[in-house]
Amino acid sequence: MKNLHNALQLKQLYLLKQMGYRYTDIVPSELEEDSVELPHDMKELANIATGCHLCELSKSRQKVVFGEGNPKANILFVGEGPGATEDSTGRPFVGRAGEVLTKMIENVLHIPRSEVYITNIVKCRPPNNRVPSESEAMNCRPYLQRQIELIQPKLIVTLGATAYRYLTNDDSPISKVRGSVIQVEGYQIIPTFHPSYLLRNPSAKKEALADLLKVKSLL
Ligand code: URA
Repeated sequence: MKNLHNALQLKQLYLLKQMGYRYTDIVPSELEEDSVELPHDMKELANIATGCHLCELSKSRQKVVFGEGNPKANILFVGEGPGATEDSTGRPFVGRAGEVLTKMIENVLHIPRSEVYITNIVKCRPPNNRVPSESEAMNCRPYLQRQIELIQPKLIVTLGATAYRYLTNDDSPISKVRGSVIQVEGYQIIPTFHPSYLLRNPSAKKEALADLLKVKSLL
């Protein structure tokens, strides 16, 4: 049983290596010769993420919050990391910030929430809602990378400074980059404010509205 458990972990590490994970030097070469295929769909990928223990966040999480929505969505929204409500339900953006995001999608873009895809930089809740560390974001990156490859969205809307920074490696202030269109091979990234920031700073809603109207014009 223990061997089986180890083998499964190694297989997961190999998969993650294939998906771009950088810290997998310990994968033995025999395993590399096995042709472990990358997950072909969201369900398969979600199953791998659900058993993930690559970082400390897995110890305190209740549920992995993998993401939800249309797996062929034109727009992918990426937040920072699950909060308390998300951690207990396993769904992204279902708390107060989620209500704001849902309104942004349904009342401004006029798209049902179920038609876009919503996920986070890290799939497990950081304790006390702290900002995920660089290594936690890096550990979780292969899941997001594969989600992007499977969805092939036209636009990625990053919500807040953390999502923008970890996705682009640019640490410019969000107030400076919001609403700009960053061309990446195959898709465009549009950063905007995090819905929680909008709850604390309602006067920023008009800028978020302008960003969303730009998103709408690019669809
Ligand atoms: N904040 C986030 O960044 N993501 C969620 O899923 C919920 C709140």
